Amino acid sequence: MTEYADETAHFAQNWQQQLSGAFTRTEDLCAYLQLPPGQLPAALTGPQSFALRVPLSFAASMEKGNPHDPLLRQVLPIADELLAVPGFTTDPVGDLPALAEIGVLHKYHGRVLLINTGTCAINCRYCFRRNFPYADVQLGKQKQQAALAYIAADPSISEVILSGGDPLLLNDTQLAALCRQLSQIETVKRIRIHSRLPIVLPARITDTLLDILANSGKTLVLVVHCNHPNELNPRTAAALHRLKHHGITVFNQAVLLKGVNDNAAVLCQLSEDLFSLGVIPYYLHLLDKVHGAAHFEVGKAEALQLLHALQTALPGYLVPKLVTEQAGAAFKQYVSELG
Ligand SMILES: *Cc1c(COP(=O)(O)O)cnc(C)c1O
Repeated sequence: MTEYADETAHFAQNWQQQLSGAFTRTEDLCAYLQLPPGQLPAALTGPQSFALRVPLSFAASMEKGNPHDPLLRQVLPIADELLAVPGFTTDPVGDLPALAEIGVLHKYHGRVLLINTGTCAINCRYCFRRNFPYADVQLGKQKQQAALAYIAADPSISEVILSGGDPLLLNDTQLAALCRQLSQIETVKRIRIHSRLPIVLPARITDTLLDILANSGKTLVLVVHCNHPNELNPRTAAALHRLKHHGITVFNQAVLLKGVNDNAAVLCQLSEDLFSLGVIPYYLHLLDKVHGAAHFEVGKAEALQLLHALQTALPGYLVPKLVTEQAGAAFKQYVSELG
């Protein structure tokens, strides 16, 4: 692809420019990866509500010519998504019943989750919110006031989680305003941001953003989402270092995915590499049973074997908690032999 011939020039652009240059067509991504379409699994065709979307900063870490690349598998739309598999539904984690207020998910004690925007920089095929009616529930300007009033009225809420979509796709002005308003609610102690951008679009971690986060007046926690050590590169490393040096605690959550990271050596490497960049492994999620993602499922018995291998090989603090989300439960469930 001539337009990507000069990757250095692409990565010198600001994050919005890099985002608008993301791959949106399978043909373009395959050409960039030097992959004849015939080598790939049968493609998903027809009208799609959840299209391919991959920034070059993520695609650049894929191995050229490898149809089974673990990063490619996370983003490539394939025909298997059309299979109706019993148990796989459109709202697997019970988000909709938990919508206490428009744009506010209040499922767990002390924590609320704000759906700030429906968009992400990357469309992961296993996304549990791939069918989420964002247009109906995400926070617009007026809804944001209602959400803040809800938080201020409940002193048991000590942590506000900005989620989405990806909350770091909000622009700096919007984010600064939101942080300012949250900082005025005394009962809120922490702002937690769930974002995949430090991994897939590290250019988003600008000086301005770091200033906004470091000066929010609350303790800031960032939970990134990285599934495979190949997702880490010098650009992501630099972004993670800068976050850490601004006093932000950074955790990682990953999803256990067949054909991506269902391998003890890969998961060990992920924990080691993340920790060397100042990131603490937090959760390893079993796949949420969302319609279209059944081909990513790793069974519970196999997941427990992988956990055992991690516990055998790593210090305890590098072993993520293996969890699963159960609609209606009061917390994320630890997966164990017993449960
Ligand atoms: C996952 C989640 C949280 C955070 O749970 P922790 O166990 O504290 O990480 C909060 N609210 C909702 C709705 C969630 O899905």
